[in-house]
Amino acid sequence: MSSFKDFSFAGKKALIRVDFNVPLNEQFEITDDNRMRATLPTISKILKDGGSVILMSHLGRPKDGPTNQFSLKHIVSHLSELLGGVTVEFANDCIGSEAVDKAAALQPGQVLLLENLRFYKEEEKGDIAFAEKLSKLGDVYVNDAFGTAHRAHASTAIIAQFFSPANRTFGLVMEGEVVSAEKVMHAAQKPFTAIIGGAKVSDKILIIENLLDRATDIIIGGGMAYTFFKAQGGKIGKSIHEDDRMPLALEILAKAKAKGVQIHLPVDNIVADDFSNTANTQNCASGEIPDGWEGLDVGEKSRELFAKVILASKTILWNGPMGVFEMENFQAGTKAIAVAVAEATQNGAFSLVGGGDSVSAVNQFGFNDKVSYVSTGGGAMLEYFEGKILPGIAAMKG
Ligand code: AMP
Repeated sequence: MSSFKDFSFAGKKALIRVDFNVPLNEQFEITDDNRMRATLPTISKILKDGGSVILMSHLGRPKDGPTNQFSLKHIVSHLSELLGGVTVEFANDCIGSEAVDKAAALQPGQVLLLENLRFYKEEEKGDIAFAEKLSKLGDVYVNDAFGTAHRAHASTAIIAQFFSPANRTFGLVMEGEVVSAEKVMHAAQKPFTAIIGGAKVSDKILIIENLLDRATDIIIGGGMAYTFFKAQGGKIGKSIHEDDRMPLALEILAKAKAKGVQIHLPVDNIVADDFSNTANTQNCASGEIPDGWEGLDVGEKSRELFAKVILASKTILWNGPMGVFEMENFQAGTKAIAVAVAEATQNGAFSLVGGGDSVSAVNQFGFNDKVSYVSTGGGAMLEYFEGKILPGIAAMKG
């Protein structure tokens, strides 16, 4: 597989799998176009090279074939605007004669958008005949949809076999994600600190287990920390926890000890008497939360302790908030992590923020350009760090 920048698209029809799964309101207006903007450099480079572009994507989760609600026609005019006024042709079906004719008629510099791939159940099934039909539309295949790289769908993985390695490449979004993820997973400079937060241990167990073989330090914050405290015999009041995961929490602590990985749990917590921004609050040592109170953020001492670990790190991976950062009174812990990660990055560390809620937090606090890389692929990035092979990546490399 060639690298994207070395690829010349002159005279070629590039079939690009993008992630234009953007949220639409009831008037079919796009309420967040970040995913579209992310792919613009990939599209622009191809057009500039003298190639033409055929875009394919899914939108939402249509159940029974084509519907107006999930039609990609709603995004055509905005895409044209984002491309600086380039006309965007639209095919009402992603396969079939209209798509074939419109793709065949494309001239260098022109753009065609295909209708929602998921109007065919064959897409998610990874149907090989469907993938082959799609493949016929372009000369080269570009995968720029990291967000769906963990799915073995027709357009994200199966299709790659119909293009020789010289005729397939990652786009810039995908390349950026893969390079950053591989750097952390396979070439991390030590000390390597993983910061894992969020609500539940059960969601993060695989990633923690995988990181026990790679990281030197693991900071565990957010709601999941309370399962660890309860498992160790601590008092957690009415804090969120998973009783059935307590043995697992103890197992993680034991494994970490055996492997020489430092686990850092909060030493204090901001606890509240209600799950609300206006609740009464107090600072409580971990394992000593009174009945009727729940931990909703990490306390000040924990923030200092975590910052020290982060500032001593050369590689940082952050997934999941330290508390209920959606409420103003419980966002200080997550903000403190963002500040420390930004400072460590400025001092030369490589930092990757991945996974839905930590990405929202970093964006919300305005730190997105102060870390080395913010991943756009929530589920895909998580599976990557769980050590799973992502079909969208494997198919391109294989
Ligand atoms: P996740 O998607 O697993 O990263 O979890 C993110 C969610 O965890 C966010 O919506 C947070 O509000 C929530 N969360 C973090 N800390 C706590 C906590 N101490 N109690 C309840 N929910 C929490």
